[in-house]
Parts: sequence; C-alpha cells; structure tokens
Amino acid sequence: MQIINPATEEIIGEVPEDTETSVWEKLNLLRTGQPVWAAKTVEERVACIARFYEALDREKTVLAETLTSETGKPLQQSYNELNGARSRIRYFLDHSARWLAEEWPVAEGPTREKIVYEPLGVIANISAWNYPYLVGVNVFIPALIGGNAVFYKPSEFSTLTGLHIRRLLYDSGVPENVFQVVTGKGKAGEWLLALPLNGYFFTGSYRTGRLIAEKVASKLAPCQLELGGKDPLYVMDDIKDIAQVAGAALEGVVYNNGQSCCAVERIYVQEGVYDAFVQSYTEQLRKLVVGDPREAGTEIGPLSRPGQLEFLEGQIADAVGKGAKLLYGGRRVNRKGYYIEPAVLVDVNHGMKVMMEESFGPVVGIQKVSSDAEAAALMADTEYGLTAAVYSTSYERAEKVMRQLNTGTVYWNCCDRVSASVPWSGRKHSGLGMTLSYQGIRAFVQPKAYHIRG
Ligand code: NAD
Repeated sequence: MQIINPATEEIIGEVPEDTETSVWEKLNLLRTGQPVWAAKTVEERVACIARFYEALDREKTVLAETLTSETGKPLQQSYNELNGARSRIRYFLDHSARWLAEEWPVAEGPTREKIVYEPLGVIANISAWNYPYLVGVNVFIPALIGGNAVFYKPSEFSTLTGLHIRRLLYDSGVPENVFQVVTGKGKAGEWLLALPLNGYFFTGSYRTGRLIAEKVASKLAPCQLELGGKDPLYVMDDIKDIAQVAGAALEGVVYNNGQSCCAVERIYVQEGVYDAFVQSYTEQLRKLVVGDPREAGTEIGPLSRPGQLEFLEGQIADAVGKGAKLLYGGRRVNRKGYYIEPAVLVDVNHGMKVMMEESFGPVVGIQKVSSDAEAAALMADTEYGLTAAVYSTSYERAEKVMRQLNTGTVYWNCCDRVSASVPWSGRKHSGLGMTLSYQGIRAFVQPKAYHIRG
C-alpha cells in the first residue's frame, strides 16, 4: 500500500497490507498475551502507558512531521494534536484505578455483594485518519489499561502514524502479544470483522459504521461507533462582539481543514446580527493563509483525500444551482496537492446538500433565522446528533435551545471542542456508545457481580 503526501502528491512510503491469514496469526498471538496482561495490576499497566505518555512528548518532532506528511495537517496543528492526546492520556492515568477498582455495594451482613470489572478480551479498534492520535487514544489507552489486548487498525491515510504508535507502545513495555497493528484499507478492516473478537470499537463514517454494526450484530459482542456529524452553530441577536463570535465560528469550520467530526458544519444567525456576522466571517475567512502545511503560519493545508475535492465542489454546485450565493472560496488552488479554498455560502436552505450532508471540509452555509424557535427547529433537522453550539449573552436563553437538541454534546459560547472529563458520544447517525470520562473507562470492561454468603 502506497502512502501519499496530500500536499505534494508524492509517494512517501510503502507498507505491506495484512491478509486474512496474517490477521488470524495476530489474533492467536493476542489470545496468548491477553490473559497475562489482564493478570497484571492496573498500576502495572498504567505504568506502561505513563511511559508512552512521556514518549509522545520526547518524540514529538518526528511524530508531528509524520502526521503532517500523511494527512496534510498544518504542522502546528499536528503538535496541538499530540498535546491534546497527552492530556487525554493524563486523564486515564489519573482516573483509571478508581473506576476499575472493585466495589462493595453491600459490604456487611450475611450475604455481601461486590462488583469486579473484568476486561472484555481481545478487541478491535478500527480508526479514522483525521485525528489519529486523539481518536486512537480514546480507545486503545483505556482498553489496554482495562486489561484487554488490542487489534489496532489505523486508517490507510494515517498508517505511518499507526506504526509510530505501535513502536512507542512496545518501547513503553506493552507486549507485542497485547497490541497488534493491522495495515490496509477497508478490506483489512473486514478481515477483523470476520474474527471472533470480544468487542468492536470503530471511529469513522456513518456509512462504514452502519456496515460494521450489521456485520458484527450476530456475534453479540459490544460494538461502539463514533461517527460523523452535521453540527450546527447558532448566534443569537444579543451578542455584542460579533467579530469575536464570527472568528470562533470560523475556527470551528476550518480547523484541520474542516476534517473534524465535530467541526461546525452549518451556521444560523438571528436577523438582527446577521449582516454584521456574515461580513465579519467573510473578512476573516479571506485572511486565512492557505499553503504548505510544513510552513509556519499556514492555517489551511491540503485536504487529506483527493476524492473530497470533487465532493465539496459538488456540494457547492448543488447549493448555487438551488439559489445560494457563494460569497468566497470554493476554487481549487493552482498548485500540486489536494488544495481547495475555504468557502462560505449564504441564502442557503435545508433543500441543499451543504446544509444536510456531512461536508468534512472547509465549506459552510450561513442561514438567517428570525427566532430561537426557528433556529432550534433547523438545528434539530438532521440525521446526525454529535454536537451543537449556541452563542448568546444569556445562558438561560441558550439552555432552552440546547435542551431541545438530540445531541451527545452541547456548547454555550464555544464549539468544536472535546474534553476527557465528560463523555464523548454521538446520537442517531453520529454513533453508539461513548468514550472519555469514567464512562469511557468502563466501556472497555464488563462488570461481574459476586454474591458472597458466609
Ligand atoms: P471511514 O469510514 O472511511 O474509515 C474509517 C476506518 O474504517 C478506516 O480505518 C477504514 O480503513 C476502515 N474501513 C473502511 N471500510 C471498511 C469496511 N468495509 N470494514 C471495516 N473497516 C472498514 O472514515 P474516515 O474517512 O477514516 O473518517 C472520517 C469520518 O469519521 C467522518 O465521517 C468523521 O466525522 C468521522 N469521525 C468521527 C469521530 C467521532 O469521534 N465521532 C472522530 C473522527 C472522525
């Protein structure tokens, strides 16, 4: 399998792909290692992960450069991702022992009762490329700390990063028969689904997630899905500093070139501040520096996958064909690599794909609304349910809207953010199950109830 740099279209590596036979061999290896790993104390497993946490910092230069070379992410954003991943790992290091410890709901009396949290066994972690460290550590870190063995399948667009992760985990003391990487494209993922594993943890698109859920359903093993979104942001008319909110919304749209599951994908603005918002958003958008992701100062690099260029052009053409106005951007940049200018559309409505389908790129539509009720109805009009943001000076007013939304996360006066202390979950087509927080530690273990008489 060839690894292509999206900024230059050059081949930067070749990696062998796994086969049906090789994944079975790896499974047999993991089956021997998992019980030995599970027999260690939580503290021993945490100590290995603590060394991995240090290694991510020690090797950050090579890791960030590799990440940028295979995803096209601006170098500073690669460093930011590594820092973000470390803070999530810190959470797991600090909190896992507490949430994995046995509990005694009934500690006295003739029949005592306790709960012991046991690992699931050998689990699959089929992962995405857009934030390979962040979405990876959500799964393989708590899974390992919980005593599981992990089959990690990095995306074909972040394979070199996946191989760094493997090397650093081994260097940190995680045994080879506890963590194995499967390389390849969708077919390699399918080999994993055919194996009799004890859990399937997936991050990626709704299309693939649904297929995975269907394929593993009859195994009756846990199946968690972290999928896409079409996340709305609403600006109320009591906002005073419109430029600041427009800047925050813009960052939510274009950070990582819009290739974030919780990117801002559609914006609703109340009529009293609509013109000012659109003007400020467009002014700030024009100033963004599009260019080589390795150069300091670049804010937008290439898209990671070539097919996305046509996809975004298609969404823009569909909107313009139905009456939207393209205020800025949307053209390919005249240079080698998968570059497109970030774009903003107005006069949009929900009959247009750009307001309904996940864009996963630096393209957004801004729609004028007259009331909170209209905004809430439009925000709720989606198949997805990942996040939603409301900007207002009044928390009470914002909360009335946030309560109406069927999403795993809501934001007041912020957007496009994830924290390790609270659960990360999608509803409807955005997913099933959750990671992060204590719930994301417990997601990788199963409770056993003891009834102890005498
Ligand atoms: P994708 O669905 O194309 O691929 C994800 C993974 O699945 C890859 O490793 C891929 O090789 C594998 N895969 C593909 N076909 C498969 C099959 N038939 N069987 C088994 N495995 C298969 O998604 P992507 O392009 O890597 O990621 C982008 C999507 O992920 C977006 O929709 C984004 O919103 C979503 N995402 C969600 C979250 C979240 O936390 N909710 C985080 C990051 C990305």
